[in-house]
Amino acid sequence: MSEQIANNVSESSLPSTQQPSSFADIYHSSIHNRESFWAQQAKRIYWHKQPDKILDDSNLPFAKWFVGGETNLCYNCVDRHLPDRAEQDAFIWLSSEINQELIDTFPAVADAFSDLGNSVEFYTDYTKRRLTYNDLYKEVNYFADVLQRHGVGKGDRVIIYMPMILEAAYAMLACTRIGAIHSVVFGGFAAHNLAIRMDDAEAKMLITVDAGLRGGKIINYKNLINQGVEQANHKPEHVLVVNRGILPFKAQPIDVDYATERRISCDANATVDPVWLESNEPSYLLYTSGTTGTPKGVQRDTGGHAVALTTSIDYVYNGKAGETFWTISDVGWAAGHSYTIYAPLLAGMTSVMYEGLPHRPNPGIWWRIVEANKVNILFTAPTGVRMLKKQDETWMTRYDVSSLKSFFLAGEPLDESTASWLTEHLGVPILDHYWQTESGWPILSHAPKFNHKPHKQGSPGYPMYGYDAHVINEETGEPCAAGEKGLLAIAAPLPPGCLTTVWRNDKRFISSYFNLFDGKQYSTSDYAVVDEGGYFHILGRTDDVINVAGHRIGTQEIEEAISTHPEIIECAVVGIADELKGELPIAFCVLRDHEQVKSTENRFRLEQQIVGAVVKSLGGIARPAAVYFPQALPKTRSGKILRRSIRALAENKPTGDMSTLDNPPAIDAVKQSMKDY
Ligand code: ATP
Ligand code: MG
Repeated sequence: MSEQIANNVSESSLPSTQQPSSFADIYHSSIHNRESFWAQQAKRIYWHKQPDKILDDSNLPFAKWFVGGETNLCYNCVDRHLPDRAEQDAFIWLSSEINQELIDTFPAVADAFSDLGNSVEFYTDYTKRRLTYNDLYKEVNYFADVLQRHGVGKGDRVIIYMPMILEAAYAMLACTRIGAIHSVVFGGFAAHNLAIRMDDAEAKMLITVDAGLRGGKIINYKNLINQGVEQANHKPEHVLVVNRGILPFKAQPIDVDYATERRISCDANATVDPVWLESNEPSYLLYTSGTTGTPKGVQRDTGGHAVALTTSIDYVYNGKAGETFWTISDVGWAAGHSYTIYAPLLAGMTSVMYEGLPHRPNPGIWWRIVEANKVNILFTAPTGVRMLKKQDETWMTRYDVSSLKSFFLAGEPLDESTASWLTEHLGVPILDHYWQTESGWPILSHAPKFNHKPHKQGSPGYPMYGYDAHVINEETGEPCAAGEKGLLAIAAPLPPGCLTTVWRNDKRFISSYFNLFDGKQYSTSDYAVVDEGGYFHILGRTDDVINVAGHRIGTQEIEEAISTHPEIIECAVVGIADELKGELPIAFCVLRDHEQVKSTENRFRLEQQIVGAVVKSLGGIARPAAVYFPQALPKTRSGKILRRSIRALAENKPTGDMSTLDNPPAIDAVKQSMKDY
């Protein structure tokens, strides 16, 4: 196969490939001529040594891509762009948390920037820092030098526990530069979660900060790290601390001050040669959100990951080198890994990194950032949009967002009313797409680059190239007919960029994902249906299905019916045990204006309307047995509604592991709403 791979692209050329004529051709070739398709895509990146074999599928479901090829993720993200785009911004970092008020309170915050020599602009409501590819190259090399000087090398695991600051990006890229395996742990997780991950990954080094900020509230990262280290069985050798000047702390014996070490590397003008990794060597570990239980340590490879992400910027997102991509997601999530850090850089784009909330200092902040930085492609989860939907919509219309080409959403079902609201006010295509931490890049999407099929609101699109995705009957494994509900499955091999296994747990990889039929179908654990036009629709998670008198109903379908109500911002439907019918659906609805339920009359009207909407769309069998109006719903840190906790509350059972919960007061809100009834 190696002869099929042309020579490396010159280091200065941009990612490109010969364009097949249509999406249908691309898709067909990616499934039926897998190796030649991906050999072609592999030319988008720099290989230190060309692969000997494009795909080794001799041990499915474990697939190996670009076998024998040697490359480096950091080199492809940074060094490769220096000849052509050294002075182009690699990152634009914005923080609405670092505002004038904070700087007045903590003068050391501004000092912490002064040493870095990068252009920092302070505004009253946010701080902005631009970083060219050249700056990024220097910072990543210093960071890699610091890591190496502290004994971190190829294959070592490094836990990164940081907020949305540029040093988090340097840390990730520096790890991949030297072949160390990073595992970013979302900054909001508690010490206990950290300790579990430290032990699982057997981390040699931790990288953290003194403090993070969320809506002006200070989060004591350093203290959480100290507690995590105390609780962990496997202790790290060092804790590298980026001191932001927010929270004074007492240094521990294993602590290393990043600013001091950086100065040493900077004075020495240190550069670190990239370590060339075999394509299948791991680049990073990332734990799933834990919406459905214990998180799984997703392991990503190196070459496949780089090729898949670079290709996706072109074929899925229609992004181009030099354009600006903004993924509003924490770096602790898969979206942040793939589309805040790696993919935009691989493709030579400018990536926006934002530390802050969607509605602070005001609900216009997203659109102000889009306008000021001419963002071309925006990507976030529906949860943030729903938060904005509660606010006055003139916040949206006062900014010029004409630079936007498209707005992608993923992570949760995108309800029609949120999609229409965005479409109406933004005037750009609102593209729902579907993927998982495991896949690392979209499984289902629209592909706006190709006029393949018109964009269809209400659907996350159709399978992307490389994914042999089908809706299959859960019992027989046979493909479902159009309109027939089934399990969304992907035939092995998974394309490049998807998880290669669960960290040090091949058994769990198989038992979690490939336990169906012949063991050759990856289960997404989501239900779906394909309509007559070939568009897929996600119907919810397999464990969010309730059984009412023998009828299996996805709670998401009921939620969709409820979401059509104009006064409802978001809702969750769960099934509770019922002696007569097995299970009954009950609905928890958050109103735009919670005051509404204070009048009994109003509340009654709302209940009637909600029940009416469900019955009209799904029939009497789906009728909610009760409708409650909490002020908020419990969510995971990644913004997903925690239905399993709501269900436990409704059934008066222990809520189980709540460590992934983002908003603890919502638990009381749910309890209170049931008392109000
Ligand atoms: P865990 O696997 O630990 O329970 P999780 O599934 O929430 O956590 P992620 O990998 O972040 O972790 O989320 C992927 C899931 O999110 C999908 O399997 C699906 O249930 C849901 N999802 C993602 N995108 C969409 C979408 N566009 N529409 C509907 N659901 C989506
Ligand atoms: Mg999942």
